[in-house]
Amino acid sequence: MTQTLSQLEHHNAFIQRHIGPSPEQRAHMLSAVGAATLDALIGQIVPADIQLSAPPAVGEAATEARALAELKAIAGRNRICKTYIGMGYSAVITPPVILRNMLENPGWYTAYTPYQPEVSQGRLEALLNFQQLTLDLTGLDIASASLLDEATAAAEAMALAKRASKLKQANCFFVADDVHPQTLDVVRTRARTFGFDLVVGQAEAALEQPGVFGVLLQQVGTTGELHDYRELLAALKARRIVSCVAADMMALVLLAAPGAQGADVVFGSSQRFGVPMGYGGPHAAFFAARDEVKRSMPGRIIGVSRDAAGNTALRMAMQTREQHIRREKANSNICTSQVLLANIAGLYAVYHGPAGLKRIAGRIHRLTSILAAGLTAAGITPRFARWFDTLTLDVADKAAVLERAREAGVNLRADLDGAVGITLDETTGREDIAALYAILTGSRQALDIDALDAGIGEVIPAQWLRTTPILTHPVFNRYHSETDMMRYMHRLENKDLALNQAMIPLGSCTMKLNAAAEMIPITWPEFAELHPFCPPEQAAGYQQMIAQLSRWLVQLTGYDALCMQPNSGAQGEYAGMLTIRRYHESRNEGNRHICLIPSSAHGTNPASAQMAGMSVIVVACDKHGNIDLHDLREKAEQAGDELSCIMVTYPSTHGVYEETIREVCQIVHQYGGQVYLDGANMNAQVGITSPGYIGADVSHLNLHKTFCIPHGGGGPGMGPIGVKAHLAPFVPGHAVLHMDGVLTRQGAVAAAPFGSASILPISWMYIRMMGAEGLKQASQVAILNANYIASRLNAAFPVLYSGRDGRVAHECILDIRPLKEATGISEMDIAKRLIDYGFHAPTMSFPVAGTLMVEPTESESQGELDRFIDAMLAIRGEIDRVAKGEWPLEDNPLVNAPHIERELAGEWTHPYSRETAAFPAGFEHKYWPSVKRLDDVYGDRNLFCSCVPVSDYE
Ligand SMILES: *Cc1c(COP(=O)(O)O)cnc(C)c1O
Repeated sequence: MTQTLSQLEHHNAFIQRHIGPSPEQRAHMLSAVGAATLDALIGQIVPADIQLSAPPAVGEAATEARALAELKAIAGRNRICKTYIGMGYSAVITPPVILRNMLENPGWYTAYTPYQPEVSQGRLEALLNFQQLTLDLTGLDIASASLLDEATAAAEAMALAKRASKLKQANCFFVADDVHPQTLDVVRTRARTFGFDLVVGQAEAALEQPGVFGVLLQQVGTTGELHDYRELLAALKARRIVSCVAADMMALVLLAAPGAQGADVVFGSSQRFGVPMGYGGPHAAFFAARDEVKRSMPGRIIGVSRDAAGNTALRMAMQTREQHIRREKANSNICTSQVLLANIAGLYAVYHGPAGLKRIAGRIHRLTSILAAGLTAAGITPRFARWFDTLTLDVADKAAVLERAREAGVNLRADLDGAVGITLDETTGREDIAALYAILTGSRQALDIDALDAGIGEVIPAQWLRTTPILTHPVFNRYHSETDMMRYMHRLENKDLALNQAMIPLGSCTMKLNAAAEMIPITWPEFAELHPFCPPEQAAGYQQMIAQLSRWLVQLTGYDALCMQPNSGAQGEYAGMLTIRRYHESRNEGNRHICLIPSSAHGTNPASAQMAGMSVIVVACDKHGNIDLHDLREKAEQAGDELSCIMVTYPSTHGVYEETIREVCQIVHQYGGQVYLDGANMNAQVGITSPGYIGADVSHLNLHKTFCIPHGGGGPGMGPIGVKAHLAPFVPGHAVLHMDGVLTRQGAVAAAPFGSASILPISWMYIRMMGAEGLKQASQVAILNANYIASRLNAAFPVLYSGRDGRVAHECILDIRPLKEATGISEMDIAKRLIDYGFHAPTMSFPVAGTLMVEPTESESQGELDRFIDAMLAIRGEIDRVAKGEWPLEDNPLVNAPHIERELAGEWTHPYSRETAAFPAGFEHKYWPSVKRLDDVYGDRNLFCSCVPVSDYE
């Protein structure tokens, strides 16, 4: 009976933890769908001519412990130095109560974007706090719920300026010469594709420049000079030029708000509000504007509305501006943004409150002034007379200063001519000032900090300082003890439905397991505390991890090279479009500007193509949901030598593997176009087929879908692009960090060279723990799970599109239109009723209006799938009762869903019981939404996007 050691070892343990169904459950589900084996099922579904014959070379699976140990060793090659580089990135202290209860808490990080507001009131409130913080600090009227980073926010500000400008002939965007270089890089890239003239110069020169529609200024210049731009802002306003100001969130605590001084748009990074530098991200940008331009705003905005019972309730406002509705006419292509990081920044402000923030900002500034005074006395006078936290110091012997810094393990900003830069932060203390003094002066004489402190005055003129109070709303003044803060965060968390409660079957979103072992490394100091522009040799661990992950992804996609910069899928699309555009230009075919996009495409596709200067032409789909090859050929031919590319999703957004995908690629190539394959559905490809093998030229990967980065309630994400060799020289590079062989010299699409580098360990861990075998199984079981659901629900809710043998890919679309026609019950009623059963709704009305798209992923066990299926079948039974007239159409559990606790306590007048209302699936998995169905119309008619008076909640 004894087993040998090798029998007892279990190297594949993680595969079985990641994949929900046990071997017995898989066997049961296979027989339910009528397939002999998993391989046989996949053989029936995936077209034979695209199936891989050999597994991708990504190695074998490792246990959690082994993978963590390997990654720890890699992380150990990063060197953490005291870093004063600044340039928009500062060391921080993440309040431990936020670290543990939010950043490390699946109740927060596994939630989805709040498209179903009834199950998202907690994170919507947290985002509203972030918007209120932004409004208070910027002095403007309307704020968004985060953008991807400061540099892309600048590009969005430029685009907004053009949309909002009344000077229709003006085509020039003027940028002050002391904005951060990475901001300028991203703005320059975007200006080119929009066809704007970009002029860089000393700020006041904007007034002399003809044809300017917008100006970009930076309140605390990249070299530290503090500006008070009120006169310039007034002069720009008089000329009807839109003014955009990049600002530092910590400096804004002390300084007069640019919005109050006349700026039209104010934006910046919220990183230094508690979010680690993480070698570049993820970080949330804040963005605020004047009321007049609110309909031109990019990104999501949270607004206050009311629910069906008239109670205050939150939702995403003005969605008609966004890509999922307006497509190529949208304000921006933003889908995934930075919700989790915005929430951390907002809660940092809640925790510290106005007094705490003033103390933190004041201390940073005071330490800077003390250092400046000490250095001045030693003969090193700061280049500028006014600063917040950053000094530019012209030094006689820069090499010697940098050498002393290196010896002391200190990073200074080193890219300035004849000077070094020093930016202080909330982690800086007295001993650090003393060390910096020694490095700069080379003197052994100690700095008398107390004497300097007593002797210096304020360098910022009084009229530049903020005089009005900030953060007066009670939420910023109530939770300053850890107990209160912990409970506040828990209260918000409890309002939301995340993966720690139930499956989230959102089609196209791939809400799979985000394993704890994958998440652990992101908060290791070796990954969290690196500055993106630190000397490359200090980031050897990062470079190794990124290179290995890139190699694996190259294997899995069938491409030749990978660009790890874009911070979301949509940014990947934009990066891919740019790459194609540059490729054509390099061959003197810059006239190729037409991008073909099937009508079923995700809204980001046309929006991204438009941002890259392409003209979108829609290709029809046939009645089976497949690309109409006839129409494709005709449109490709019509486009002729103006054809740039096609953007196609595979398996299609209709949830089927189109048999003709190779032909689609061939047709486009035949007319000189490139093939962009949207990789959001890679979860149905990994290990089975690949975009490169199919014949595509470039794809983005949503690492936050297929490769386990959690959705964070609406971000972060990572959207790296894979490319074939001929496109590799044209992918985005970086203006600040140069690494030959790793980064091109092309214009950037994000502030940081490797995007949100600090969440890449999640995908690294996933691939390492799954290995080639586990990854292939994951795709196969994802397909099995979807087919199991489709086969069991088809009779009650017809599956709209299927491929050969009636099979679907990794998701399926349930057509609710016939039922609605017959009974009056809509897909919305079903979605909301699912909440009473303890589930998040599937994707509603995408890609086809009146449908629900279900994607279970491989991580859900048969038990959870059955629970979902049972809920859907029970709902179908309820619809039948409405149809039979047992319940009136205007008063039944479906149209009244979801039900909340407090309505059970009141008078009950409905023709169904309280138990039917609230416990249709029993008690064990009960989830309570905190509000009833949202009133969308009311919210957009009465737009209100800041914190609500507390009385509204009581
Ligand atoms: C999710 C998705 C995108 C956009 O990705 P983001 O990371 O949210 O920007 C694009 N295309 C498809 C098909 C998607 O499902």
